[in-house]
Amino acid sequence: MAYITTAPPKYVLGAWPTPLGRLKKTEELLGMGMAGNSLYIKRDDLNGLGAGGNKVRCLEYFVGQALADGCDTLIAAGPVQSNMCSLTAAAAAKAGLACILVFNGSKPEKLSGNQLLNSLLGCRMIFLGQVSPEERNAYTEKAAEQCRSSGGKPYIISNGGSNGVGALGYMSVVDELLEQYPQQPGKRMTLFVPGGNGGVAAGIIYGNLIRGCPFDIVVISVEDPCELLTEHIAGIIKDASDIYGADPGEDFFRCVRVTDAYSGGGWGVNTAESSAEVLKFARDEGIYVENIYTSKVIVGMKDMIRKGEVAGDACYIHTGGFGSLFSQY
Ligand SMILES: *Cc1c(COP(=O)(O)O)cnc(C)c1O
Repeated sequence: MAYITTAPPKYVLGAWPTPLGRLKKTEELLGMGMAGNSLYIKRDDLNGLGAGGNKVRCLEYFVGQALADGCDTLIAAGPVQSNMCSLTAAAAAKAGLACILVFNGSKPEKLSGNQLLNSLLGCRMIFLGQVSPEERNAYTEKAAEQCRSSGGKPYIISNGGSNGVGALGYMSVVDELLEQYPQQPGKRMTLFVPGGNGGVAAGIIYGNLIRGCPFDIVVISVEDPCELLTEHIAGIIKDASDIYGADPGEDFFRCVRVTDAYSGGGWGVNTAESSAEVLKFARDEGIYVENIYTSKVIVGMKDMIRKGEVAGDACYIHTGGFGSLFSQY
């Protein structure tokens, strides 16, 4: 079957490539240096829009599509401290679009974290109170209807941006690493990525597959059991490949491991180790991680390296979340 790749419209929002750094102290603590292996960090937390973070990559495709469709308003939905919502508001500002955010949760009495950033960005916010994520997502249709009836043209970002279009944004992580990482013959590098709804993981896995699997990938679930996360990731890869057109092959997970050993009680629920890691990582490396996603990935990465479950070099993909950190204490 002949595949024709099509890159959908993209609007540049960030500063690329994001830096690739070394985690020298953590590398020593894990005994990697002695074994001649290196520990890297891909700084997707430093990408130049808002408080930074992975979602700037998927937003480049959402904004690109919105502008191509002649839309004038972005609509996103999430929990009150959603990184996606906050970055959507920043992206809308940069692209000259209006922004409506829909939250499950009530309006906070004191502005903190991403809520403070949203209010600085001047978007419209709708607080639905205690409703389920499904009800919240359904409400985006209502918000879109209101927007249309007042003459606007909305673009809805579905599922926190974890969909086929959004995943295209993460494919470039692999291409950037192929340029940045000093490859040595015979040595592999394992990328450690978070798994929430699965968008980041899907995009990086798909990008890796179409380049012939130059990297091994470990997905650390922060929320769902392996089977469910794997199903979500596979679905998003399928959607992304239908849009982009490059063949991912039969087995999407041929150089991937998915683990739920570090997710504890699920989304937003710390484990003792992840709480400690927020402090430990800042004090060792001068780099902030937060409680929901990034600290759990580091806990998992360190544990797997210590146990000898990964060989060669390793690279932590720092997906950001800095804005939410200020509401977590
Ligand atoms: C959204 C997010 C993720 C996870 O992304 P999914 O696509 O939902 O798996 C990871 N880290 C941070 C900081 C995020 O905001």
